[in-house]
Amino acid sequence: MKNVLYSSTRAVTENRAPVSFSEALQTGIASDGGLFVPLSFPEARHKSVVGDSYYSHAADFMTPFISPDFSHADVLEICRRVFDFKVPLVPLAGSEWQDCFVLELFHGPTSSFKDFGAGVMGQMVGLLTKSSNNKVIVLVATSGDTGSAVAHGFSNVPNVEVVLLYPAGQVSELQEKQLIFPRRGVTACRVAGSFDTCQRLVKQAFAAPELSSLKLTSANSINVGRLIPQMTYYSWAASRVEGCPTFCVPSGNLGNLTAGTMAMKAGVKAKNFIAAHNENSFFPDELRKSNDMATRSIGNGSKRTISNAMDVGSPSNFERLRHMYSSEELRALVTGYSISDEDTKQSMRRVYEETGYIADPHTSVALESVRRFRRDQKENGPVVILSTAHPAKFASAVRANTGQEVSFPESLSQLDKRPLEELSADVMDLSDSLADLSSLILQIAGS
Ligand SMILES: *Cc1c(COP(=O)(O)O)cnc(C)c1O
Repeated sequence: MKNVLYSSTRAVTENRAPVSFSEALQTGIASDGGLFVPLSFPEARHKSVVGDSYYSHAADFMTPFISPDFSHADVLEICRRVFDFKVPLVPLAGSEWQDCFVLELFHGPTSSFKDFGAGVMGQMVGLLTKSSNNKVIVLVATSGDTGSAVAHGFSNVPNVEVVLLYPAGQVSELQEKQLIFPRRGVTACRVAGSFDTCQRLVKQAFAAPELSSLKLTSANSINVGRLIPQMTYYSWAASRVEGCPTFCVPSGNLGNLTAGTMAMKAGVKAKNFIAAHNENSFFPDELRKSNDMATRSIGNGSKRTISNAMDVGSPSNFERLRHMYSSEELRALVTGYSISDEDTKQSMRRVYEETGYIADPHTSVALESVRRFRRDQKENGPVVILSTAHPAKFASAVRANTGQEVSFPESLSQLDKRPLEELSADVMDLSDSLADLSSLILQIAGS
């Protein structure tokens, strides 16, 4: 079998050489500022059967995309370590929701679907740097889920140090506890400023001359290493549903949806996709217009909503989707919806009343999108709804709209009980100037 190579979304293929998977993984972003995409989409050699374990299914699906840099045995071992949690496909009750299945992706260590991408990426970077004597420093600016998933996925990985920046006073108490929970190889920094300040500091660090001799990398969904593992749950769900499913994806940066379309190119059965957005409606708006779409999205500010992990004004993975599809193809494949906060709350209530299922706000945006899709398309084929966060992380919204208390998964309940002060012992306080951050990075790199 031929190896899959990766090229930049901005490269004209004839005049720029594509790179191997490990190079795409380690550099994160192409030198021309574009994002890496696979040049071919091999089908998995072994088709999954019911009774498979998730991890072996995932390893079979991923291996053709990342070999020979990673052998099948390596991939199997990585997947066995990371996917040690369940991935249930829950059928919804009630006549309105016939043939609708919720794919619960929130049973990982930080209760968010980001554990899939961040966990596997951490192990992959770890294998590549195991034999090197240069430490890799992973910088992440976060306002929520990404930070704790990356911190967890990269902690205890030899030769890798994570520096995590979050805005003081702008994450919830539980989120902060998840972020600062002491982990080997992770330094959490509370920055005096906003999320944008954190992002600016990370960008400045990448450009800083005093840090140029270090191996710095980033772990957000710009990195194709996050998307490859996310294809596996589409394949897993499709093999367990009768007929050809529509996938409904709660979307922000469009990494998850992009992974779904990549899985489809690699042979996963999918009828079409629903891009479920909150009031940040860039992509649904583009899908509705009739002109040719731009090739990337630039500079839309974001609105704050109750599904805050999807508060993205200018989705970075739009550039990948536009590289893989023409405007026409994208409009045929994807239906977009933008759901207001009011309708999100009502959706949470309605689904609970009609089916007994309790969904978090992100999943509720998706459920409302499915309802509208079925109404607009007048068809009731099978739908798989990706559920991206555990409802217990949004306990007050759930309580207000369903009257129910959801119990914490074990890991969150332990954390919830510990006082914030006790956990904050090792948190670094940083100013909004680069000098503080670079001296911290130099110190970590040298130790
Ligand atoms: C990150 C996140 C999303 C959005 O995923 P994208 O890949 O950025 O589109 C949706 N829901 C939750 C809970 C998230 O943490």
